[in-house]
Order: sequence, then structure tokens, then C-alpha cells
Amino acid sequence: MKCFYAPETEGHDPSFRLTHGTVVRNAERAERATLLLKGLEQLGLGTESPPEAPRAALEAVHTPEFLRFLETGWEEWQKLPGAGPEVVPNVFPRGSVTSYPETIIARAGWHMSDTSAPIGPKSWEATRRAADCAVAAAEAVMAGERAAYALCRPPGHHTTDDVAGGHCLMNVTAIAAQHLRRAHPHVAVLDIDVHHGNGTQAIFYDRADVLMVSVHAETSNYYPFYTGYAHETGSGEGQGFNLNLPLPRSTTTPGWLAAVDDGIARIKAYAPGALVVSLGLDAHENDPLDGMKVSFDGFAEAGRRIAEAGLPTVIVQEGGYLSPDLTTSLTSFMGGFLGKDPRAA
Ligand SMILES: [Zn+2]
Repeated sequence: MKCFYAPETEGHDPSFRLTHGTVVRNAERAERATLLLKGLEQLGLGTESPPEAPRAALEAVHTPEFLRFLETGWEEWQKLPGAGPEVVPNVFPRGSVTSYPETIIARAGWHMSDTSAPIGPKSWEATRRAADCAVAAAEAVMAGERAAYALCRPPGHHTTDDVAGGHCLMNVTAIAAQHLRRAHPHVAVLDIDVHHGNGTQAIFYDRADVLMVSVHAETSNYYPFYTGYAHETGSGEGQGFNLNLPLPRSTTTPGWLAAVDDGIARIKAYAPGALVVSLGLDAHENDPLDGMKVSFDGFAEAGRRIAEAGLPTVIVQEGGYLSPDLTTSLTSFMGGFLGKDPRAA
């Protein structure tokens, strides 16, 4: 399996996040990549550095204003009196705001829904290279590979067309799915991250050409809080093409796999030309974000069942946070997908 990784993505290494009013260490740190690369190595999978994707592949998902903000926002922010080392919004628009703001202070709040992904001097390059990985994996599958993996950091599935959030910058899953649309009239996304893929949902919500399925911890008391309910089924032409499968917090492996099966069944009925797996590994029982209790064997079984669907598949790395178990979570899923014994990996 072709795997894509760009070391420039480690340039995005946010130092903190705010949780319950307390400044804590950011869980989406560059060393996540080291743990994930170790997993690929254990599986005998090498990585390729992707070529630069055409900007049109990013613009097919994100607005020009959002891309400009990501690309130039840090430099503008540094000109503010008393600017901190990272762009962190502290004012947010609400309600029916229609005028796009001029100042970088207001644009930071416009384009970021929370404070979890502070933007540093290398963040644009990192998210750009992560998007390059996603596009390269899509291209590999379009060229006939059965499957490809994009080791993307920062992740993407909480970002809409113009608002980042939840540790994400550009929506790498949506960029891969949209890119696959060049070759396939119908593409499906299966998001198994423990958090609802609210950004991906928003991007494809009114479309029938991309089916979005998300298996996640129910959001009444868990991020992203405002979306992720079963009654969100799409709108307009997209009605019926968004499937949310929320599960109670702390769901264990059997319940989680049953929901993954439901998602796969819906995807098979849709009969897409290709599949994007939005691969969060944070449903693991030892993940610090504490959403669900999925075992390594559960990830291996999910990998097996997704592979059995027999679709050309792009696997895009999403969440899964700092824990020594992150490596084994990846080898378990990928081992299952590739039909290898993850314990022997
Ligand atoms: Zn997550």
C-alpha cells in the first residue's frame, strides 16, 4: 500500500489548548507523526513525500478567503501590538453576520470556531503538505491502487469550507473525497474518528454525489457538541446522503463494530466508485480524549470489514492523540485492512 507523509507537517506543533477554562498541553502535537510512522514501519510500509497538489484541489473544498487566512494570517497577526507567538482567536461572530471582516483579529474568529489549533509560523506549510498527502493518496487510488494511506497532520474533519476547529486546519478528508470525484460520480466517506465529522458533514450536506457516514460518540456532552445527531440526514439534493451513527460515551468494541457494520451496509447500498476512510484512532480505550472503549482487536476487525467492502479506498489520518497505544492502534487497523496479523506486525 502506498503511504504518503511529508515531514514539513511537523512544523505545526501547537503548544496549548483551553479545556474547561484551563490551559493544558495541546494533544495534537508533532510527535503524533513519530508514533504513527513507527506503526507503518512495524507493518513494513514505507512512505513517499507527495508532490505539491494543484491549488485547485484545495479551492474545490475551501473558500479563497479561508485559504488566504491560513496562508497569511500568522504574519498579519505578528504585527498586532503585544502579539503572541500563535494566532488564537478571542472574538467570534454570532448570528446573521454578513460582512466579511478586514482586521486579522476579526478574521481569526471568523475562520476558527475554537482555540484548539493555534496557528504558528509553519502551520500553513504543514496543512498544505497534509493536503498534498491526501491528494497524492487519492491520485494513487485513481491510478489503480487498491488503497492508499495519507498520514495527515494537522487533521481535517472538523473544518468546514471556511471555518477550522477541533485541532483541524484544512479538511484533508473532504479534499481527498472531492478529488476522487474527478474519477468517480459517487464517492463515500466513512468517518470512524470518535468525534463527529462535523466539517465534512457541512461540506457535503446538500450534495448527493458524496455520501457521508460518521460513527462517533454522541455529542450532547462531547465535542463537537452542536452536531452529530441521527436526525441530521442532509438537505436539498443531499437529503438522505448523510448518516450519523452516534453511540453512547464509553461504548465498547461490539457496539462500535455494529455501528461500523451499519455504516458499511449503507455505503454498499450507495455503491460508490471509491471510499475515503476518515481514520481517527481516538475511539481507543486508552486515548486521552476518553470517548469510547474500542480495543486493538476492534480496530483490526474494522479494518478487515472495511477492506471486505472491496472499494478503492483512501485512508486519511484524522484524530488519535498522544498515547503510547497510538502506534498499535494504527498497526491494528492497517493490519486488519491488509489481512496481516497485527500482533505479528
Ligand atoms: Zn477525534
